[in-house]
Amino acid sequence: MTIAKVEPLLTTRGVRGPFDYRLPESMADVGVGSILVVPFGRRRVKGVVVGLATGSDLPEERLAKPIEALEAGVPPELVELGRWVGEEYCSTPSRGLGLVLPPGVGGGASARRVKPLVELEAERTAEGEMALSGDERLGLRQKAVLRALASGPKAARALANEAGADRATLRRLERRGLLTTREVERHRRPPSTSVGATAAPGIALNPAQAAAAATVSDALARGGGGWLLHGVTGSGKTEVYLACAEAALERGLGTIALVPEIALTPQTMERFRRRFGDQVALLHSRMSAGARYDEWRRLRSGRARLAVGPRSAVFAPVSDLGLIVIDEEHDSSYKQESDPRYDAREVAARRAAQAGAVLLAGSATPRPESRERMRRLALPERVDGLALPPVEVLDMRGGVRGPLHPRTSEALAKVRSAGGKAIVMVNRRGWSSHLACRSCGHAWQCPQCDVSLSLHGESAREGAAGVMRCHHCGHAEPKPGSCPECGSVTIARIGAGTQRVEDELERLLSPLEVFRLDSDSAATSGHAQVLSRFERADAGVLVGTQMVAKGHDFPEVTLGVVLDADSTLRLPDFRSEERTFALVTQLAGRSGRGRAGGRVLVQTLAPHAASVRHASTHDSEGFLADELGRRRELGYPPFSHLIEVALASPDEEPLDDAAVAVHALIAERIGEDVALLGPAPLFRLRGKHRRRLMLKARDRAAAVAAVRSAVAAAVSGRRLRDVAISVDVDPQ
Ligand code: ADP
Ligand code: ZN
Ligand code: ZN
Repeated sequence: MTIAKVEPLLTTRGVRGPFDYRLPESMADVGVGSILVVPFGRRRVKGVVVGLATGSDLPEERLAKPIEALEAGVPPELVELGRWVGEEYCSTPSRGLGLVLPPGVGGGASARRVKPLVELEAERTAEGEMALSGDERLGLRQKAVLRALASGPKAARALANEAGADRATLRRLERRGLLTTREVERHRRPPSTSVGATAAPGIALNPAQAAAAATVSDALARGGGGWLLHGVTGSGKTEVYLACAEAALERGLGTIALVPEIALTPQTMERFRRRFGDQVALLHSRMSAGARYDEWRRLRSGRARLAVGPRSAVFAPVSDLGLIVIDEEHDSSYKQESDPRYDAREVAARRAAQAGAVLLAGSATPRPESRERMRRLALPERVDGLALPPVEVLDMRGGVRGPLHPRTSEALAKVRSAGGKAIVMVNRRGWSSHLACRSCGHAWQCPQCDVSLSLHGESAREGAAGVMRCHHCGHAEPKPGSCPECGSVTIARIGAGTQRVEDELERLLSPLEVFRLDSDSAATSGHAQVLSRFERADAGVLVGTQMVAKGHDFPEVTLGVVLDADSTLRLPDFRSEERTFALVTQLAGRSGRGRAGGRVLVQTLAPHAASVRHASTHDSEGFLADELGRRRELGYPPFSHLIEVALASPDEEPLDDAAVAVHALIAERIGEDVALLGPAPLFRLRGKHRRRLMLKARDRAAAVAAVRSAVAAAVSGRRLRDVAISVDVDPQ
C-alpha cells in the first residue's frame, strides 16, 4: 500500500496537514511534488504531495483515494522550500506551497487550470498531391488547404487564416488520406520589447569586474557561498551577473536572476535575453497566464536554464541551480507585503544553501544586513574611467520660496539651453501632500484612516478641478472650497508633489518636454512607456517619485535633482537613514553616465544628516560603518531580528483585549533575551484600529516558533473574535 501525504491547498489557518491518501495503482508515478485533486470533507480540493509512506496510522477503510493527478508537478526541493517559507514567516504550509505551484494552479478543485497550448499541424500526403492535379472531387476549400500545404506543414490556425479551413475540413481530408495531422505543443512567448531571442556575446570585463566574476566562478566549482557585489552606480554590475551566469551554464548549472520590478527595470531583463536568448525564461505577473505557464514548463523541463523575474522568481523551477543573482538587493520590493510576508533575499539565501549554489547580491547601496553577513566583492569605479558626479547639498531652511532652490532652477535652465536631459525626484505624488486652513489650522483627513488627504490634479493640463485622495485606502472627495470649521476660504496647499513640480517645470523650462513617472501617471501610460519615451527623446526632464531612481542607464542624463532628501528621514523607523542614503545615492547614480559628465543637486531641510552627508561624497562604506555602529549599539538588525505582530479591528475594545491576550501568550513563550514591546497603537487604516507588538530577538528561529505557537493558541482559544492578526518576520 502506498500512502501519499498530501497538504491540501486551503487558505484557512486552522487546517493541520498533511493528510494520508491511498494511491491507486493507476497513480504509481505520483511522487513528492505531484499535485492531486483529493476528496476533503465534502469537497474536492487540490493538494501537494509532501511525502510518501508505505503505511498509515489510519485504518485502511478510512483512507480515501485521490481523484486525479495533475500533469504538472513541483520539484521536490521546491516543496521543501515552500513549506519552509510557510513556517519561517508564520504563515501556513498551504500558503507557503502556493508560492511554488505552476502558474495557473490555484487552490480549489474547480479553479481554472492553464493548459499547454496545443495546435493541429497538417501536412499533405502523396495522395494529396495526386488529388490536386487529378480528377478527385474536392471542394474549393479542400483544394485551398492542400495548396496552402505545398510549402510544408502548417498549424490549424494558419490554415484557417490562409485557406478558410475549419477543423471539419481538415478531418475530412485526413479521413480521405489526403493529409496527415498531428498535435504539437505551441509555446506562448512573453512579449519582448526590442530584441530578438538570439544570444549575443558579452563585452570584455575590466579588471575589477573580471576579479569579481572569477571569485564567483571558483565558488561555482566549490559548491556555493554568498557574496555582496558592492559596486558604485555605473560600475557594470550587470556585466558581472551575465559573466557569472555564463560560467554557471558552462558547468551545466542554471541561474535565477531576481530584479526589483520588471516595469521599472526592463533593461536588466533585456540584457539577459540578449546575452542568452532562448535559454532565458521570464516569469512576471504582467505576462499572460498562458505565457507564464509555458515559461515555467520550459524551466521545469530544462529547455530553459535561466529564470529572470521579480521576487516570486526565487521559486522558479530551475534544476541544477548554480547561481542566484539579486540585482539592486536594497530594493524594498523584494519583501512581499501580504501573507506569506516572505523576503525573497532570505528565501534566495536559503535556496542557494539548499542547492549548494552561489548567492550574488549586487547594489551600490547595500543593506547593512548584507554588508555584515556576506563577503564583499568591490567595483569601486565606474566603467571606462567615468567619474561619479559631484553632489551639491542645497539647504532649504528659511527663505526659499516654492519647491525649487534658485541653484536648481539655474541648473535646469542650463540643461534646457544645452538640449540635454535631467531627472528630478520628488518623493511624493499628487499636487500637494496636504491642505490646512490658514485661519484655524484645520487639516483635512481621511475619514477611514488617520492620515492627511493629498491634493491631486490641479494642473491646467489635467483639466481637473482637484480631488483629495487618501494614499492608503483610495478614498476620494472633491477639493473643499472653504473650511468646515471656521468657514475661511484661505486654504494652504502644503508640500509640493510630483504633479505640482511637473507643472512648475513645464512653465520654467518650456519648450523642454517634461515626463512624469509615478503610480498615477502609470495608470494612463505604463511605466515602461514613460521611460522609453524619455529614453528616445533628444532632450527632456523626467520628474517622478523614487521610481525615477531605479537602476536606469540613460547616458544623456547630465543633471540629477533630489527635491526633498529629508522626506524619508522624517519617518519614525530605524531604517530611515538607510533609505535616505540609498535614494539620494541611487538618484545621483543616474547622472553622468555618458561622455558629457554630470552633476547632482540635493535639496534638503537636514543638510547635516549622516545619510545626506555620506551620499554627497558617494561614501557608501563610510555610511555603512556608521550605520552598523549605530545598529549594534541599539541592537537593531543585523544584530537582532524583528518580528511584528499586528492586530486590527473596527472596534477598539475587543482589539485592546486581544492585544493584551496575545502579548501574554507570547511573553509566556519567550526567554529573557527576547524583548517584547507594545502593544502600541498604529494609525487607523481603512476604518480599522490597529495595535502592534514587536519582538526583538537574537535567536530568530526560537522567536518565530514562540510567535507561531502563541498565534495558534490565540486562534484556538477564541481570543481573537472580530480581530484580524498578521505576523511579519523581518518587517520593512
Ligand atoms: P550598474 O548596474 O553597476 O549601475 P551597468 O551594468 O548598468 O552598471 O553598466 C553601465 C554601462 O556600462 C552599461 O551601458 C554597460 O553596457 C557598460 N559596461 C559595463 N561593463 C563594461 C565594460 N567592461 N566595458 C565597457 N562598458 C561596460
Ligand atoms: Zn478653518
Ligand atoms: Zn484612507
